[in-house]
Amino acid sequence: MESKGVLPSSDKESLAVNYVCMVGTSEPMDPEKYPVLKDDISHVAQIVGENKSYSWTSISVKENRICWSVAQQLPDTLKKEDIVRNSEWGPEACESTIQEVSSFTNGFGGTLGDLIENTPRENISKVMLEEKLFQTWHHGRTVLIGDAAHKMLPSAGQGAVNAMQDAVILANCIYDLESYSSEALTAAFDDYWQQRYPQAKFQFEVSKFNGKIMSGQTWWERVIRKVVFNYLPLWAHARMFIKSASYRPQIAFLPEAPRRGTVDLLPLKPSVRYTQEQEAMKDTATGA
Ligand SMILES: Cc1cc2nc3c(=O)[nH]c(=O)nc-3n(C[C@H](O)[C@H](O)[C@H](O)COP(=O)(O)OP(=O)(O)OC[C@H]3O[C@@H](n4cnc5c(N)ncnc54)[C@H](O)[C@@H]3O)c2cc1C
Repeated sequence: MESKGVLPSSDKESLAVNYVCMVGTSEPMDPEKYPVLKDDISHVAQIVGENKSYSWTSISVKENRICWSVAQQLPDTLKKEDIVRNSEWGPEACESTIQEVSSFTNGFGGTLGDLIENTPRENISKVMLEEKLFQTWHHGRTVLIGDAAHKMLPSAGQGAVNAMQDAVILANCIYDLESYSSEALTAAFDDYWQQRYPQAKFQFEVSKFNGKIMSGQTWWERVIRKVVFNYLPLWAHARMFIKSASYRPQIAFLPEAPRRGTVDLLPLKPSVRYTQEQEAMKDTATGA
């Protein structure tokens, strides 16, 4: 695409990296020490520290385990290449981070060090949190889904969700392909982009915003956090969740899944081929 001069310049730019994150899942912990584990709902503690731009999370999960993560906000000026080169931030540098954060409270009555000590080393990963919403998702006979098209921060828990939604909509568009010609493929991939891009863009922005309020350390991000958690009414918080929950794309060429939720669903584009097939089956059954 670049050699043909059809790649938008923004798609040539590197992905932004504003956070480095270390994550792990502990072995079963003692419920007497961590009473949240006795509850059959999951508890989440999110703490924003002042030390070295760290913020961290503990989440109680099944089997008395605790998932934990530590995010470090990076200066705006850093490029991905600088981060890879700098041993302090690189993915291999777990040990120095562990030493720095071990004494931090984990929000459940112990320290992060306690959780880390109870996490097998092979279950600890350190990753750069990249983000970028690409404009181009397809060209010729090639089409992208998931992180390759829209890499979002994990702060809204939407990256894999959106990858699966891409797969569903792309499958729908491929099912309705009228031929295998280049024109038909481009039309199908464009239809996929039209249906998915606005949703992915919305979730990309929600993830960025959540990242700011969960982990942002600049003066402005602290102000936003204060406003969101102290002055924004609950209905406004709920509205964002409802908007996400109302988008539940389905495979259009299978019977619709039963609706178990309480939120109204956004309408989905029906499959032309499936509708025709269903009508033909009805006609056959009635002998029409
Ligand atoms: C810390 C963290 C927490 C997250 N939490 C959540 C969450 O709670 N909810 C959520 O929905 N999402 C979450 N995500 C995001 C989620 O993990 C991703 O959005 C999702 O995995 C993207 O799926 P994908 O298939 O597009 O890409 P990937 O999962 O990255 O899969 C791409 C695969 O391709 C392979 N590959 C790469 N290059 C090549 C090559 N040249 N040849 C062959 N194979 C190759 C890679 O090894 C990889 O296995 C989180 C991400 C992180 C980092």
